[in-house]
Amino acid sequence: MKPVSEIFPFLEQQKNIVITFHQKPDADAMGSGLGLYHFLIQFGHKVTVISPTNWAGFLSWMPGAKKVLDFEMQNEKAKIALKDVDWLFCLDFNVLSRTRKMEIPLQELNCTKILIDHHQQPQVEVFDYGISDTGKSSTAEMVYDFIVNSGHEDKINSDVAECLYAGVMTDTGSFRFNSTSANVHRMVAALKDKGLNHSQVHENLFDNFLENRFRFFGNVLLNRMQIFYEYNTALIAIPQQDLIKYNVKTGDTEGLVNFPLSIKGIKLAAVVIDRGDERKSSFRSKGGFDVNTFARKYFNGGGHFNAAGGKNLESLDEVVKKFKEAIKENKELLNS
Ligand code: 5GP
Ligand code: MN
Repeated sequence: MKPVSEIFPFLEQQKNIVITFHQKPDADAMGSGLGLYHFLIQFGHKVTVISPTNWAGFLSWMPGAKKVLDFEMQNEKAKIALKDVDWLFCLDFNVLSRTRKMEIPLQELNCTKILIDHHQQPQVEVFDYGISDTGKSSTAEMVYDFIVNSGHEDKINSDVAECLYAGVMTDTGSFRFNSTSANVHRMVAALKDKGLNHSQVHENLFDNFLENRFRFFGNVLLNRMQIFYEYNTALIAIPQQDLIKYNVKTGDTEGLVNFPLSIKGIKLAAVVIDRGDERKSSFRSKGGFDVNTFARKYFNGGGHFNAAGGKNLESLDEVVKKFKEAIKENKELLNS
């Protein structure tokens, strides 16, 4: 993988560009993707953003979100966009399997593939150019650096600013996590200078939920949360019937895992959800417990040191059993 800076000289030559990110995109995937979109269209490129799957309703306010193609639901249109592509930008993921049904089509694409991502262990052989930096707070911060380093900071308009702010703010837990460097704060200051209305972005993201989400949270915190004080660990295992009963939609479970993590003494919090076709898990940790390794070892997943996820084909009961065995095996690390 060659340095991403090597493509800067070609930014001004018109191209067909596709931007994609991981399945079930969060605000960093969608925000970095659309931030890059609003930057690139200013050069006259033809740019299409394709999401591997649908996304949470709380992301639809983002400028340009209505133009994003859902690879599963708008398959024909997405395939046409992929046909004559010159540049493919892969944002906020680094293994093609994170794009679900797009994995094979992306593998077969004969174009220049560019990675911008901050997760661990990238599949570097897949990408021609790129930057992979686990020290970065968010992919949105990396897209900001990409724009500034390419010498086109003047192209940061309010659309770019809103999208990138949404990504960096959510991926840093509202500027709380360790990854919130001075560069992050300088970036936000620069975005404010470009006219960013940050309060509006917070409101768009956090004040648009429906009642059912809170009834659902109430239910799972009361009935599904288990605390293993011996291991400083909390687990919420959610059967599919809860999702049906509370009409839970894509994105409604986002943030749930942070509740058990805020219990005094808890170092590892997990949410495992029976999604029907698979059991999807989210892991969060505080301090020195590495959930990226934990997710890779037991749950076919990965992510970051303090935030990771995975997926299993076994039943929910079996995944819970596996989890309990895994924390036993990690007792020392969870108590250090
Ligand atoms: P979340 O719990 O918010 O879904 O994901 C937390 C972090 O772990 C994110 O950075 C996400 O990209 C990563 N992640 C979540 N699920 C998976 C997975 O199944 N495989 C891998 N490699 N990473 C995941
Ligand atoms: Mn991210």
